[in-house]
Amino acid sequence: MKQQIIKIENLKFCYTREADQVLVEAIKNVNLEVEKGSFVAVIGKNGSGKSTLAKNINALLLPSSGTVYVKGFDTKNDDHLWDIRQAAGMVFQNPDNQLVSSIVEDDVAFGPENLGIAPEEIRQRVDSALKAVNMYEHRKKAPHLLSGGQKQRIAIAGVIAMMPDCIIFDEPTAMLDPKGRAGVMAIINKLHNEGITVILITHFMEEAADADRVIIMDKGEIILDGAPVEIFSEIGKIRELGLDVPVAVDLADKLRKRGITIPKEIIRTEEMVEYLCQYK
Ligand code: ADP
Ligand code: MG
Repeated sequence: MKQQIIKIENLKFCYTREADQVLVEAIKNVNLEVEKGSFVAVIGKNGSGKSTLAKNINALLLPSSGTVYVKGFDTKNDDHLWDIRQAAGMVFQNPDNQLVSSIVEDDVAFGPENLGIAPEEIRQRVDSALKAVNMYEHRKKAPHLLSGGQKQRIAIAGVIAMMPDCIIFDEPTAMLDPKGRAGVMAIINKLHNEGITVILITHFMEEAADADRVIIMDKGEIILDGAPVEIFSEIGKIRELGLDVPVAVDLADKLRKRGITIPKEIIRTEEMVEYLCQYK
């Protein structure tokens, strides 16, 4: 039987706007199950509720109504707060806001220290987490001397060191240059291949095409949910929502309009190159 690591039932979340105390309904009604080991991409316009949903999964925010379960633990139950934070780690957009220590390896140790892990085991976890993100050789450095992509990989190492079942990435590549972005995406794909459940919020459609499931949010609701190939075949609908499609999908669309047959399974640039090269 498939195991659901995250289960969300009728989630509603409202913020109280500070200026005028007006309630902002950021999540209207979300029902979602995430299968253990899957790679789910979440896309949607700014303000559609993606970050609010992520923070509800990690118990940084608690539902206004409805229930969020992580590994079976209800996030509203205080007794399991650390089980939830350990099971579902989070990586945010700005690496500078996530690094707390002046030495890389201390930073990575911060999470496991908070979990009360024994020092020898922390040492091991820190080393192996730094190796996993290709940053071991930088372990003695000061984080502020690193590039944005390297800092983001340190933040990811800090989460890996807590040995989570699931990692929620909230636009982790948004502030990075192309090289930094590629480095972070390589790590995310590797973690998924190693069995970690990945939830990736992104506005890069190329990144979403790597997932095995794509969810589209709009105005606090999930409005589309399916395999990337299915979701990206709805080009008109996606554009109406103010979103892009992957470059290969756009190209396929233009070629089809000129009478060239391109299978709908082609959603990645490399796949398009392979397909077109057969006519060489
Ligand atoms: P996304 O991550 O998709 O851009 P968010 O979850 O950040 O969307 O925001 C969803 C809605 O909640 C938006 O209307 C946003 O303005 C509002 N919102 C987000 N954070 C706050 C906050 N701290 N106080 C009030 N409203 C907020
Ligand atoms: Mg956001």
